[in-house]
Amino acid sequence: MVSRICILGATGSIGCSTLDVVSRNASLYTVEVLTANTNYQKLFEQCQQFKPRVAVMACKVAAKELKSLIEKSGLRIIVESGQQAVNDAAGKYDVDIVVAAIVGAAGLLPTLSGVKANRKILLANKEALVMSGDLFMSKVEYEGATLLPVDSEHNAIFQSLPPTHKNSAERLSGVNEILLTGSGGPFINEPLDNLADKTPEQACAHPNWEMGRKISVDSATMMNKGLELIEACFLFNVDIEKVKIVLHPQSIIHSMVSYVDGSVIAQMGNPDMRTPIAHCLAWPERIEAGVKPLDFYSIKSLDFRPPDFERYPCLKLAIYAAKEGLSAPCILNAANEIAVDAFLEKRIKFTQIAEIIERTLSSSTFESLQSIDQIVQANQHARDLASKFVSEFSK
Ligand code: NAD
Ligand code: MG
Repeated sequence: MVSRICILGATGSIGCSTLDVVSRNASLYTVEVLTANTNYQKLFEQCQQFKPRVAVMACKVAAKELKSLIEKSGLRIIVESGQQAVNDAAGKYDVDIVVAAIVGAAGLLPTLSGVKANRKILLANKEALVMSGDLFMSKVEYEGATLLPVDSEHNAIFQSLPPTHKNSAERLSGVNEILLTGSGGPFINEPLDNLADKTPEQACAHPNWEMGRKISVDSATMMNKGLELIEACFLFNVDIEKVKIVLHPQSIIHSMVSYVDGSVIAQMGNPDMRTPIAHCLAWPERIEAGVKPLDFYSIKSLDFRPPDFERYPCLKLAIYAAKEGLSAPCILNAANEIAVDAFLEKRIKFTQIAEIIERTLSSSTFESLQSIDQIVQANQHARDLASKFVSEFSK
């Protein structure tokens, strides 16, 4: 059977890797819907290659450009425009699989449309889950949607857990700990005094993974691991105490599960997102992903150590927010998005990212979020607060 796919965030790093896997398995998948924000040239190239039924752009000016390129080329593709059209895409068109690969809070409503329409959701967009947590998971359960983790660590954990039904509590029986691995990013060995002067280019030069700019900065601060810790707690319904963060600079083990009998199951592979994407696309089967097999004779060592909170204050803030619960993860995520944006635009220093998040968290009260509207509001409020702190820093 051929599965019809909608990719939210098609032009990004995960979107492009997904299309690469799809192109290697053309008899199994058809691309129905592609969405993007502003990059109309890239989306047009993807339209030429994959001939989706619909292409949606959040930016209306970019959508106009795309429409004119599509008309000139003679392709018959519906072009939709505007944020609302992106928000609705995953539910409006008949598809089987939704790849949630928009970066940041902007991905929440588009992903939820897919959940409400009972699709198989391949979740890369961790920020959507971090900000909406229990509400997101209860919607998945209520709608009977299938949620599969694309994030490499969560995919590794998913593969290392017993192969029972993904949401069932018995899946966790016998589990001692989830070991969430992280590379430590490009500044793992940098003297702490040098961190303040790191540039966006240096922060985005990840030693093992090629990713979008926002997640690359998150990896340098290790906020990425903090968001992933929260993501793991919601996805696998585990307490934060059951998840241990382990630095593993080689990124060969992508995470592990340890069991009460002393066994540890790890998922390994070359660091390439096409592996977890292919795993989710085909689950419970396996398909070719274009990833080279691991060459064990060339692995010199596998190193592990605990994280250092002086180097990674963002990780400490994420653990604090995870423990506080309520709206704290949503506020943490919003402040981080604003601070990372400001750093990428060279308005603040690398080390001020953590300061902005800390100030935003300590100026907020954490509340229970009962609806998506409340989550959207809490997110906006925290973004406004963090923006105010950014402008104070960049004066
Ligand atoms: P990216 O910046 O490369 O791509 C982001 C995509 O989102 C683009 O297609 C862009 O057009 C779209 N987008 C951005 N803002 C939008 C908006 N307002 N409306 C509609 N579309 C919008 O990001 P990425 O590295 O591919 O990451 C995407 C998500 O996957 C993130 O949540 C990230 O944390 C997660 N993730 C990425 C990787 C990786 O290796 N890149 C690994 C694990 C998880
Ligand atoms: Mg990850």
